[in-house]
Amino acid sequence: NRRPIVAGNWKMNGNLALIKQMEALFSNAELSHVDVVVCPPFPYLGGFNGSAFALGGQTISHFESGAHTGETAASMLQEMNCQYVILGHSERRADNNESNELVAEKVDVALKHGLIPLFCVGEPEDIRESGQLFDYIAAQLDAVISKVGIAAFNDIVIAYEPVWAIGTGKTASPAQAQEVHAFIRQHLAKQESDIAKQCVILYGGSVKGSNAVELFSQPDVDGGLIGGASLNPEDFLSICLAA
Ligand code: 13P
Repeated sequence: NRRPIVAGNWKMNGNLALIKQMEALFSNAELSHVDVVVCPPFPYLGGFNGSAFALGGQTISHFESGAHTGETAASMLQEMNCQYVILGHSERRADNNESNELVAEKVDVALKHGLIPLFCVGEPEDIRESGQLFDYIAAQLDAVISKVGIAAFNDIVIAYEPVWAIGTGKTASPAQAQEVHAFIRQHLAKQESDIAKQCVILYGGSVKGSNAVELFSQPDVDGGLIGGASLNPEDFLSICLAA
């Protein structure tokens, strides 16, 4: 009875024309079975006017406000009608040196401002090959659990995004995704089984209209976090319909 979510992460892509196309297509679609989220670059948040989907940011500052040039506060996303925020994306971990501890601080700040974190975890290829996959994912989860507490996972969405599958066209197989999603759920269940059962866990990494049905049919895969394919309105819609 977990309600599926499909979230589009535009990354540093998109424009006003894409917003118009997306709103036109989605305003007529029957999507009552799924929560659809679009996470555009910050300047475009004010450019959405329909209620065809929920909005999310792609990061926030761990500060509340102040002299932090270039940063965006959780309170600002909330004021701009965002319900969600992507946190701990592997591109920010890599490009901006975001540690597990910093991601945990951001999750804490997001929750305090009523934003639902789309909290990303996932291993680089060398970690998987060296057999440290589950330890690596557990450490990413534990940093956030120890900061905000297990009960906060009532209001957190987890996204499993294997780094080697992002933007590479190399999707995790449905079995590989299911294996890690089940691990994540078991890891949460060690602390609180009810929270583990209801926690929504998304898969991300080269999801397309053509592979979404298979991935989303896995028992512990509750939807997707979509990069490249979220920039193509028809493909994104077919992914949403697959959830
Ligand atoms: P792709 O769907 O382009 O592989 O990106 C996945 C992702 O990083 C979503 O956050």
